[in-house]
Amino acid sequence: MTDQVSVRVPGKINLQLSVGPLQRDGYHELATVFQSVSLFDEITISEIDEGIEIKDDSKLAIPLGKENLAYQAAELMRKKFEIKSGLSIKIRKEIPIAGGMAGGSADAGGTIVAIDSLFSLGLKRDEMERIGGKLGADVPCTILGGTAIGTGRGDQIAPVLSRGTYNWVLALSSSGLSTPSVYKECDRLREGLDISKPFVSETLLQALSHGDAKALGKSLSNDLQPAACSLKPALRLILDVGLDYGALGGIVSGSGPTVAFLAEHEDHALDLVVALTSSGVVGNVIRVAGPVPGARVITNA
Ligand code: C5P
Repeated sequence: MTDQVSVRVPGKINLQLSVGPLQRDGYHELATVFQSVSLFDEITISEIDEGIEIKDDSKLAIPLGKENLAYQAAELMRKKFEIKSGLSIKIRKEIPIAGGMAGGSADAGGTIVAIDSLFSLGLKRDEMERIGGKLGADVPCTILGGTAIGTGRGDQIAPVLSRGTYNWVLALSSSGLSTPSVYKECDRLREGLDISKPFVSETLLQALSHGDAKALGKSLSNDLQPAACSLKPALRLILDVGLDYGALGGIVSGSGPTVAFLAEHEDHALDLVVALTSSGVVGNVIRVAGPVPGARVITNA
């Protein structure tokens, strides 16, 4: 057995997020299309004498206890596979915290993949996705990666045919949005309306299978967007600015507040970064590409 294992795990954006009515279990039935993008957290797991400790390698004040999904993932894996030793989990973050890009879920996904490798458990990827699904709806997609459809709570995932690479520009916010409060606001805004069963758009799937960025830009949609904009009205302005500067499409990712703009090609993405940065309405703008693979071991030291 090796001493430590590091895993690189990507964040995601939702190209479509169709939200059904609130169910009795407090969740909403979803039909969503995820794409993993080139913004990565790095998780390094090593054995310690006892307990579970989280090391915040990026000094971003992430939770160090049970509230951290990576902690819960380690606890679940220890119990399920009768791992006697303690575990240290070092987390280096690039994915924004509470940004609607599955940052916390990615750390749980990365922890599961790293523990599988450190203890040579030999788990199949779909087994790890199932374990991840017990911790949070977005965890399986961070393990699978690529472009995928999510149904149920968003945790029943299946890969989708997607041609080519898409160039995204992300407008990051300095403060996050809590996922439960965005869903709650969505319910409030839709009160009294007849909400239909969630569905995945055929037009969007066709755009992906043809590698047609223009058509994809037009078919991006997110039922949580009005709620995210209601809680953070600045998002509307950011969306307007990106679209005015020629983005093929713009969307709040998941529960927000990250806004993703689709560019035609790399140079167009660079132009958009410059335009959004100089507009003064966004603090931090970055360029990413998708799809990228899910959680992968990068070193065994
Ligand atoms: O599964 P996860 O812990 O990531 O979900 C966080 C919260 O988001 C849930 O407690 C719930 O309020 C909301 N949610 C939902 N329907 C989903 C997924 C999440 O209402 N399908």
